[in-house]
Amino acid sequence: MTAIAEAIRAAATFGATSNGGVTRFAWSEPLFGVYAWLRERAAEAGFESRLDAAGNLIVIWDAGQGPVLAIGSHLDTVPNGGRYDGALGVLSGLEAMKHLKRRGFQPNRPVWLIAFMDEEGARFKTTMLGSRAFVGEDLQGLSSRRDGDGVTLAEAMRDAGFPFDRLPEARAIERVGEYLELHIEQGPVLEQAGVDVGIVTGISGLRGTRASFKGIAAHSGTTPMHMRRDALAGAARAVLEIRDVAASRDGTLATVGTMNASPGAFNVVPCAAEFNVDIRSIDPGALESSEADLHRLLQRIADEEQLTVSWDRIYELEPLPLDERLIATCELAATEEGASHQRLPSGAGHDAMIIGRHVPAAMLFLPSQAGISHNPVEHTSDEDCERGTRVLARAVERLSSQPMGWPLRAGVAGFTRTRRSRARWPGWLRPVRAAPAAR
Ligand SMILES: [Zn+2]
Repeated sequence: MTAIAEAIRAAATFGATSNGGVTRFAWSEPLFGVYAWLRERAAEAGFESRLDAAGNLIVIWDAGQGPVLAIGSHLDTVPNGGRYDGALGVLSGLEAMKHLKRRGFQPNRPVWLIAFMDEEGARFKTTMLGSRAFVGEDLQGLSSRRDGDGVTLAEAMRDAGFPFDRLPEARAIERVGEYLELHIEQGPVLEQAGVDVGIVTGISGLRGTRASFKGIAAHSGTTPMHMRRDALAGAARAVLEIRDVAASRDGTLATVGTMNASPGAFNVVPCAAEFNVDIRSIDPGALESSEADLHRLLQRIADEEQLTVSWDRIYELEPLPLDERLIATCELAATEEGASHQRLPSGAGHDAMIIGRHVPAAMLFLPSQAGISHNPVEHTSDEDCERGTRVLARAVERLSSQPMGWPLRAGVAGFTRTRRSRARWPGWLRPVRAAPAAR
């Protein structure tokens, strides 16, 4: 068994569930157990480590000078989750560092491996708490969030030895120059394409809409079909049209995941139907235009069905394009390791979404068997894990052997952009081209 495969099996014993899954909540014993195990493993390889005020575990390769190259992911899980989500990114990071060190490689800049606390937010609905503290977000409002047992976040942190008030001390983003994260895809694209490594172009933004059709409740036995104002029939048409419109566009996903009809009786024509529409894309322009099209579509169906319609935006998050120079570095690393690769967007959120709003960031995806994740059967083959670790090591080697922002190879588009040129566009507003791989 390779070192990475063995590490994944060992880590999965912390918080193991009876059906082969893993439950490691934030601030829990199993999480600190796997931390202790990882710190020992890192120490054996000659790396120091520390815990910051937000419970982020940082393994340090103290070398050279300048901005830190950070590799990160998370070790917490959803309830009865899989053994690869998050853990693979952290474990492959350590294996990559060990591999480079064994070969006698010496970075020109410090390299940090960070296991961020509470990425999943499964216990307190405090998603990405660790990375948000790391970049200095104000998290004071979260202290009284309660878990299922009524324990507050502040209490859980105190019991684990982390005073909530000291959370701001975790801010260390100023030390970091670049960020890399390896993660399982959690979707079926790479496996179906038979591709070894995904190079993530950006992390999707989202728009959430709550829509409501109103008609007239009527007797199902006495109201002729052509005289009905059936709100649910209108909503059903909307669901199908939303699906078809999204399917006709590259890189846009739209989902109706909830629906409520009133009054909800088998013999009454529904007078109201309320549903949520979730739209995702890595292209800010596509999000805008899809939302406008949604409003037009809802109004047209309402008119045709003689209904009234209303809608509200209930959530929004801007997409995050990842850094083109780091993306190109990852592609080069994959090529050098003989791994087939393609670009693709990430539909799920990751710590890179937080860190990448402050410093250039890139992500590598590895294939998920059948696209399944957040499930005990979540699986990525040993071979894929080993290959991905080698690609990560190669990218770390390339980036940390040079000062920040150096062109990797002259004349290749995207390689020469510096942090200065990036500053003109806030990262999440920068226009992006849809990746060919997403088509
Ligand atoms: Zn994850």
